[in-house]
Amino acid sequence: MAERADELAPDPAAIARAAAILDAARRGLALTGAGISTESGIPDFRSPGGIWSRYDPEEFSYQNFIARAEARRKYWQWGLELYPALVAARPNPAHFALADLERRGRIQAVVTQNIDDLHRRAGSRDVIELHGTALRVGCLRCRAEWPREDIHARLLAGDLDPRCDRCGGILKPRTISFGEPMPAAETRRAFALAESCDVFLVVGSSLVVHPAASLVPAAAASGAHVIIVNRDPTPYDDLADEVLRGSAGAILPRIAEPPRAG
Ligand code: NAD
Repeated sequence: MAERADELAPDPAAIARAAAILDAARRGLALTGAGISTESGIPDFRSPGGIWSRYDPEEFSYQNFIARAEARRKYWQWGLELYPALVAARPNPAHFALADLERRGRIQAVVTQNIDDLHRRAGSRDVIELHGTALRVGCLRCRAEWPREDIHARLLAGDLDPRCDRCGGILKPRTISFGEPMPAAETRRAFALAESCDVFLVVGSSLVVHPAASLVPAAAASGAHVIIVNRDPTPYDDLADEVLRGSAGAILPRIAEPPRAG
């Protein structure tokens, strides 16, 4: 019988090699994407059944959000579905394994494309959110901020184009939409860490969204060992020392635990 992609079992020798590379890391860095959170029940973008198979990304561009009340209403309608799913999600063994690698000094930080806050909830301390967070909402004019919970209550009460109660500006989740500038400080820091790390660990990313994906060649060009844990092939597999295909929740705990002596 054909193996399902999420039942792929990487070669134990490859697991052992990846574990040894991680165990020797002194300035490691992880990059995560939507694939690390699918086992927490949050769908990714590009797998079949993922979020983009049901919504049109162009419709949710930053420019559209600013220009059209109709686009904002549709976006917040989507948020009404998404936010409770984010709150209900729990970190999975892959998130916990990264928190453990940080505690043991193997990785310095997690750079994430995710907006779900699951790394922090798993105990990671240094989390660089390249695409922002869905758990806060900000005013695009005066920059005031609220917990998403507060704005969610307004949406539930029927206010599907919520405005800032201080200045009347448009409210938007503190996430980075298509067409929106990347957060400068986070992006700079992510590249600086990638260019000086000794091991670069990718978990659950298709590596097609830039600039996040460009961290991989940046790290490799600076001499870092690269490990990719992903269910599907990525454009940077050829740069990696080890590519482990399969479930992040199953693989991460195995490569994160220190190799047994003997
Ligand atoms: P993507 O959807 O492009 O790719 C996800 C990758 O993860 C795929 O290649 C898939 O093979 C792999 N994958 C899925 N489940 C996996 C599992 N259990 N174990 C191992 N691999 C698995 O996602 P991306 O690369 O993060 O980039 C797209 C954008 O998605 C980012 O900008 C991010 O902001 C956004 N996003 C975030 C969330 C979230 O916060 N959880 C959810 C959806 C999308």
